[in-house]
Amino acid sequence: MLIPKAELPFPLRWGFSTRLDPPEELRVRRLNQVHRCGVVEASNAVAEGDGIWTTAPGVRIGVRVADCVPVLLAGPLSDGTPWVAALHAGWRGATGHGDLNPGGGILRRGVARYRALGGDPARLVWAFGPAILTCHFEVGAEVIEAARQDLAWQEALCTVGPSGKAHLDLHGFLRAQALDLGLDQTREGSVAYCTVCRPDLLYSYRRGETTGRQWGWIEIG
Ligand SMILES: [Zn+2]
Repeated sequence: MLIPKAELPFPLRWGFSTRLDPPEELRVRRLNQVHRCGVVEASNAVAEGDGIWTTAPGVRIGVRVADCVPVLLAGPLSDGTPWVAALHAGWRGATGHGDLNPGGGILRRGVARYRALGGDPARLVWAFGPAILTCHFEVGAEVIEAARQDLAWQEALCTVGPSGKAHLDLHGFLRAQALDLGLDQTREGSVAYCTVCRPDLLYSYRRGETTGRQWGWIEIG
């Protein structure tokens, strides 16, 4: 288990599982992830969406990924109630590409939900987990074009790899959005391991593992 390093706003547990963790650590599945931008409140039913949040203590929520970025958020609402969320951000989720609802990518929507409930984004503690990083995230022009639609886009997030193709810095792109949304860089606890570089530790869809997943999870209490 990889644990983000950040000062916690209230008692919580969180982490990014690896292939070394037993499957029973994965717990209840609550989301049917579809590479879009829906953010739902946790319930006992399985909901379609790529983001999930709760204010209920003891309810472990999470997302399953194998190259996409697992994003964890935790902060107090205006009355001090703890709020936590887990988001699944591949390039479609990060850009909002193809989503029918306006509002940008899933990080923007997750933070918007927190704000709507009375949270101050500057108080969020946040972490991005293991994902396909710049070293291996070769992408087509349509991905860069989708990312350019975001207000926080910077051209430095796209570099040219050894084969001459574009590489996207997905962690960097999400971080640029986070800072644009008013999150505090000193409250970030990201774990920047590349899923393709670390077959000893992590599953990677692009490396050919179509079933194994790691789990980014968070739980109040
Ligand atoms: Zn890599």
